[in-house]
Amino acid sequence: MARVQLENVTKRYDDVTAVEDVSMEIEDGEFVTFVGPSGCGKSTTMETVAGLTKPTEGRVYIGDDDVTTLAPKDRGVAMVFQNIALFPHMDVYDNISFGLRLRTFSDDEIRKRVEQAAEIVQLEGMLDRMPDEMSGGQRQRVAIARAIVRNPDVFLMDEPLANLDAKLRVHMRTELQRLHRELETTIIYVTHDQAEAMTMSDRIAILDGGELQQIAPPLTCYNEPTNRFVAGFIGSPSMNFLEGELIEGGLRTENFDVELDPGAVPGVGVGDDVTLGVRPEDVHLAEHADSLADHTAHIEARTDVLEPMGDEVFVYLLLAEEVQGSMEEDPASSPNQLLMSVTPDTEIHEDQAVDVVLDRSKVHLFETATGDALVHGLTDRSDQESGPTATEAE
Ligand code: ADP
Repeated sequence: MARVQLENVTKRYDDVTAVEDVSMEIEDGEFVTFVGPSGCGKSTTMETVAGLTKPTEGRVYIGDDDVTTLAPKDRGVAMVFQNIALFPHMDVYDNISFGLRLRTFSDDEIRKRVEQAAEIVQLEGMLDRMPDEMSGGQRQRVAIARAIVRNPDVFLMDEPLANLDAKLRVHMRTELQRLHRELETTIIYVTHDQAEAMTMSDRIAILDGGELQQIAPPLTCYNEPTNRFVAGFIGSPSMNFLEGELIEGGLRTENFDVELDPGAVPGVGVGDDVTLGVRPEDVHLAEHADSLADHTAHIEARTDVLEPMGDEVFVYLLLAEEVQGSMEEDPASSPNQLLMSVTPDTEIHEDQAVDVVLDRSKVHLFETATGDALVHGLTDRSDQESGPTATEAE
């Protein structure tokens, strides 16, 4: 077990900066996931820990050692990759023990470690199987067992579940969590799948364009995203974003106003462009607004497409008549569209006029120019009169 520290790590390839000034400390025994869109620098960052890539600038520490220039084999790390490279002509036992045999462990020691690892990944009784007699999930477990027997200080896993089918991926997530609990080893895990990151990790590190955006527990990233990128990346379907401008006593968006005290929003003032963010589950039908401690004034909308998911229904709302029937490419950032999630027993159908409200405690504001978060949850109104806004008056 060991802590891992990245100190101002930058990696440049000719004209590409894959990783830009990334610093973070990963605690001993922590499960940290690097997540972000393809090309954001997740793998390269992990490779600097593995020793497969030498940073252009910055230092990497494992435990108390500066390992920046050490070879991978001298770092106490074990890696599991997306492509499961098992030797097809070797049985499970030989595949798991291969690395140990190269390191001249005694036969007894090898058998002990292989049996323990096989038990942890639940492959006991399969040690004499050949890889082509196993499912994808079982083969991936062999690869994990091969990493376990090395008894590493740090596990590095790069998209290890990417080639498995959806059901098996969900199952393997639970297995990896159990593995982490049993081994108590530091794990760094790379994925582009935010759901995977959310469900397994102690903390997630969100990268974009080679830069670290936020590193925090999953729910902190969900509830208090540091910027618009994180807010949009974490959560599925994505948060709604509506562009607006701070006015006296509120925020004006294209189709509705939200009361607030601009003086209570740090760093911006009346006249500044501010983006409102709200997750689909925090948009409610006005008739259900009583259950909310505090909500915005009614917003008139028309339902467009409904997507029943079984446990919830996604309702695409149109806020302006003229865009009806012309859904835009990215509904999450259109000024005239809003995605709402409702329970399946809600009586609602397509092309219905509805009034909706936003849960004020769940409304986020971002500075439009920088994308930086300004506030999470609206608490301050400019006055305590909560009369209807212009858009509510009919
Ligand atoms: P991710 O794992 O998030 O998909 P990577 O870390 O693989 O992203 O890549 C980050 C960026 O660095 C990408 O633009 C990629 O094209 C570039 N890159 C990665 N490895 C190399 C390399 N060996 N040579 C040149 N560019 C690279």
